[in-house]
Amino acid sequence: MIEYPVSFVSLPIGNRDDITRRALEVLSSVNVIVCEDTRHTGLLLSHYGISQPLLSMHEHNEAARAPEIVRRALAGERFAVVTDAGMPGISDPGYRLIQELKCCGVPFTVLPGPSAATTALVGSGLPSDAFFFGGFLPVKPGKRSACLQTAAASSHTSVFYESPHRIIKTLEALAAIDPDVPVCVARELTKIFETYHRGSVSQVLGELHSQVPKGEFVLIIGGVNAPRYSHQPAYNQHNI
Ligand code: SAM
Repeated sequence: MIEYPVSFVSLPIGNRDDITRRALEVLSSVNVIVCEDTRHTGLLLSHYGISQPLLSMHEHNEAARAPEIVRRALAGERFAVVTDAGMPGISDPGYRLIQELKCCGVPFTVLPGPSAATTALVGSGLPSDAFFFGGFLPVKPGKRSACLQTAAASSHTSVFYESPHRIIKTLEALAAIDPDVPVCVARELTKIFETYHRGSVSQVLGELHSQVPKGEFVLIIGGVNAPRYSHQPAYNQHNI
């Protein structure tokens, strides 16, 4: 195995079995694991029987941590960088550290693994040949609406992360633009209550209105080339 000074390692987005052998090897062999929340990652690592020194790096201290990690990597320490779940750098810390590593000529690598965005895109059944990833939708209604309008008029599929508190309001805003836009709301991926709600935005809103939205959500919006829906039920492991 080639040893890089810094390895970015994707972690499971729910199901703890979704970790690669290479991820486990790297996490077991580095000197320090950089993570967002040391308690959260410590618990996950203990599930894999891994106990390593942890260093916290989150959105509020990444700019300060990055030069420290570069200095220590140049002095010979080996780092793995993880976030709470999924792929570092995807709506998560990682990008600023990578800029610093690039600038200082420190080699780094990325271990492929789970990400909610790509999992949801494929599971959505919407065209996956070309897609736009928008991260978290803006919170301000005007900006959010503008993003939704662009997504609905796009020639490709759009993928957004959304909070459980805003998912209904976001779908309502999209339905106001066009109630027939094909969407998928992917909830609690890889977890016990994994559910894909696929249909027109008005159909999906109808399904979700009867529940209090809980958990983690990805919203996938079909563009102008996506097939329009007739009704399909939501599938989870309880009604397959
Ligand atoms: N870096 C992560 C990745 O690669 O997926 C994303 C981190 S971002 C801070 C967290 C957001 O990702 C959640 O608010 C939710 O929108 C989405 N997400 C993460 N895990 C998920 C899951 N199991 N099911 C659905 N959405 C998920």
